[in-house]
Amino acid sequence: MPRFALTFDDGPGPSTAALLDVLRDAGIQATFFVLGRNAMEAPWCGGDVARARALALRVVREGHCAGNHSYSHLKPDRWREVAADLRRGDQVVRDLRREAGLPDGPIPVRLPYGIRLLEQTIAAPTGTVNAVTLDPRVAVLASMGLSHLHWTSDFDDWTLQAGDGAALATRMIEHIESNARLGLDAVLDLHDSGTGSSFGYERPATVEGVRLLLAEATRRGWTTFTAGHG
Ligand SMILES: [Zn+2]
Repeated sequence: MPRFALTFDDGPGPSTAALLDVLRDAGIQATFFVLGRNAMEAPWCGGDVARARALALRVVREGHCAGNHSYSHLKPDRWREVAADLRRGDQVVRDLRREAGLPDGPIPVRLPYGIRLLEQTIAAPTGTVNAVTLDPRVAVLASMGLSHLHWTSDFDDWTLQAGDGAALATRMIEHIESNARLGLDAVLDLHDSGTGSSFGYERPATVEGVRLLLAEATRRGWTTFTAGHG
């Protein structure tokens, strides 16, 4: 029987509360990779830090797994700065857990942009060569005793408009089914907020897509799990 986990990056944001309502109504515990800046500086709601903080706390209090998506969402080529930024993000999540009265424990990590290949131009005896190497942030994570919680599919949901929720749900269902045919659970990468890019912070299609997915999953008897818990 298909089994899947929901994960959300970049929050909190303006769609987080509606998403939490959907998850609560379905009795589902997801994983939220909190972006430290969105919890502590609240650029998505005009700097209303109290609102952002309350929302991030609600995530933790409602039993979801809170992970670290770094503090500043640095681009992969700024890998030399990523250790400090991950430590800062980790502290945000630890403080949230403490405030919610939860015990200290390992905080799962998802890198901004996930694990990527790095393209670089390298000096060679005859000039330069263009090379593609493994993301140097993988080594940074290892040096910190951390590993990466990746996904089985992302859905570019940050590019979607209100009204795209049904199409998103269809794609998620197809992905979960195709993974199940391979004997694999699915880990879905979605977004409940943004990074300050031109795609903004609202994610109405994600909220609606998740609502439709969970309704269909219930009808079909599919189960969920929480990635990074325990
Ligand atoms: Zn992100």
